[in-house]
Amino acid sequence: MPGDLLLRVRGLATWYELRRWGLFHQGWVRAVDGVSFHLYQGEAVAVVGESGCGKSTLARTLLGLVRPVRGEVWFEGRLLQTTEDWRAYRRRVGYVQQDPYGALPPFMTVRRILEEPLVVNGVRSASERRARVVEALEAVQLVPPQEFLLRFPHMLSGGQQQRLVVARAVILGPRLLVADEPVSMLDASVRAEVLQLLRALQRQRALSVVYITHDLSTVRHFCDRVLVMYAGKLVEQAPVGELLRDPKHPYTQALLAAIPDPDPENATRLRPVPPGEPPSLVRPPAGCRFHPRCPAAIPGVCDRKEPLDFEVGPRHLSACWLHEGAVVAEAASVAGADPS
Ligand code: SF4
Repeated sequence: MPGDLLLRVRGLATWYELRRWGLFHQGWVRAVDGVSFHLYQGEAVAVVGESGCGKSTLARTLLGLVRPVRGEVWFEGRLLQTTEDWRAYRRRVGYVQQDPYGALPPFMTVRRILEEPLVVNGVRSASERRARVVEALEAVQLVPPQEFLLRFPHMLSGGQQQRLVVARAVILGPRLLVADEPVSMLDASVRAEVLQLLRALQRQRALSVVYITHDLSTVRHFCDRVLVMYAGKLVEQAPVGELLRDPKHPYTQALLAAIPDPDPENATRLRPVPPGEPPSLVRPPAGCRFHPRCPAAIPGVCDRKEPLDFEVGPRHLSACWLHEGAVVAEAASVAGADPS
């Protein structure tokens, strides 16, 4: 059962302005364009989609690193409005970056890296800082901690560096963790270990997690729910088991079809993925943004009207006109009346 509601996002839009040439305004990149979802305390939610779908911008917005141009973010029942609201919110959110080596200052020891957020946030007692550093290292299984305190990042393996990034993300006791592709730069052998570590920390501390990934195959053992993103919008949201077993949206079905089957016997049984590239986020297609690639697109509907979120099961939403019986029936009658 989910805990209390921690985060509610409504109609969130984060756009980047394209470079201006004199007075000529070239437009906006609509990286996140009307995203709504919620997250319960202690829940892990994956945001999946192809590169360039806007999921990293969504992560940066949730981290408070960029401010949305539109929409609302509610945290612990409070609407974030002022700069001070966002500042206070950021202290409750931990960030696990994609590239551990790039995320860690090379000239600082493990001890200083972990002490820094404590110093910045006013933990004055040296003994308390030391105790919290040791506790954080133990939590991410960099043990015994004394062996790691004086090392520099280049003296750690890739997996150990990512554990250190996780330790830094949780040392202030956040309620929300945003992990942006946290294992995509690690060797396959340590990916599962880091995901298991994140899952264990999430459960022990009742942390809520937003896990950003392009790899649907990693979400099964890590997440409670999945949000599927395409061209700046969420197209499907469902509990992880249901989404993997019975995806409703054609784009989710295509993503799942693209996961290679590790069994060589089944390697030829992949379903075809719709051809084409994700659309421009500067001038996205009208109607459903997936319609130029969608094998089930309904002419005259999908290219004109943006689909609503249809409830297709418990806690399961899919933004596709195929779930609207009247639209499908009308399309079928038009197709039947077509003499060609
Ligand atoms: Fe395909 Fe139309 Fe559904 Fe979009 S709304 S996914 S184009 S059928």
